[in-house]
Amino acid sequence: MSVRDVTGLPHVVISVDFERRWGVHHRLGCDFDAYREHLENVEPVVRALLDMFAARHIRATWAAVGALACKDWSEYFARAPRSPNYRNPSLAISPRYAELDPDGRLHFAPDLLRLVHRTSGQELGTHTFSHVLMREPGVTADDVKADLDAVARLWRERFGAAPTSLVFPRNQIGFLPVVRSCGIRTWRGNEIGWYHDCNENATNRLLPRALRLLDALNPFVRHASTRDGDMTRGSVFLRTNLPPAAWALHRARIRNELDALRPGQVYHIWWHDHNLGAHMHQRLARVEQVLDMIAKKNARGLVVSSGMRDLLEQPVSGHRVRPDVTMRAAGGNAARSRRPTEG
Ligand SMILES: [Zn+2]
Repeated sequence: MSVRDVTGLPHVVISVDFERRWGVHHRLGCDFDAYREHLENVEPVVRALLDMFAARHIRATWAAVGALACKDWSEYFARAPRSPNYRNPSLAISPRYAELDPDGRLHFAPDLLRLVHRTSGQELGTHTFSHVLMREPGVTADDVKADLDAVARLWRERFGAAPTSLVFPRNQIGFLPVVRSCGIRTWRGNEIGWYHDCNENATNRLLPRALRLLDALNPFVRHASTRDGDMTRGSVFLRTNLPPAAWALHRARIRNELDALRPGQVYHIWWHDHNLGAHMHQRLARVEQVLDMIAKKNARGLVVSSGMRDLLEQPVSGHRVRPDVTMRAAGGNAARSRRPTEG
């Protein structure tokens, strides 16, 4: 780990929402053929990403669904709290998934989590135990607490410590006092713009999705931001699935933003494990292009590669952050979609 003084330098944060089928089950339901290639290739994708990160000294936060650390369905059902009483029942985890994926290869990845944990510079954060969608009607504070307690218990047993970084499933931010009381010290906020903050089943419609895509392709968009309390705002969802011309625009946007970073700013890039599962080699090569840009700047001392937890050690607006104080202050219907999922 570097010992250079990084005070004031811009930070480039990477978070990977590691979720396998838990993150898309509400779209796929009991159709286990849909999106299968993406999900089956999660293992080689994660291994390749870890190799790329390690080779470039890039730090990242893996916001993992807690259930991934279970070895099978019997362990999952023994540990998982009762599902929230969602008004839309299709959002709940169905017991039928266990019959349709009996060996759990689309749902569990304990070995991969151990590998993440062992790899230098990688932080094991969380994405809740069962991908709980916190802004959907029917979810209660008790549901959130039980879910995050289940992750903390499992992480302590398997990895020696409870997670302190959270990415909200589908970026549905809610129940912050409860989340903080469960030991979460930092979480990822949404990109700037109303259309990045309407991820509920009822509001995630065509217009906001189209506006998000336009943002991704606009080389003049600037979504780096300073840290805000315990929130680090997402800056860009990495879209490796774009056609070549659109990818060139997307990459140009990222390069321009990296070039324009100012001291104290955080540029936060994120994606999901399964986004890279189809056309895997092409998509991994695109990730590599972005990582190379970051690694070059990191090596020249222009930016600092960071995980979410690393930011807690950095000053904000000239003041030293005291996480202990911050913490106590607050009490698809596209079932067959081949597109990346956002959330
Ligand atoms: Zn998710």
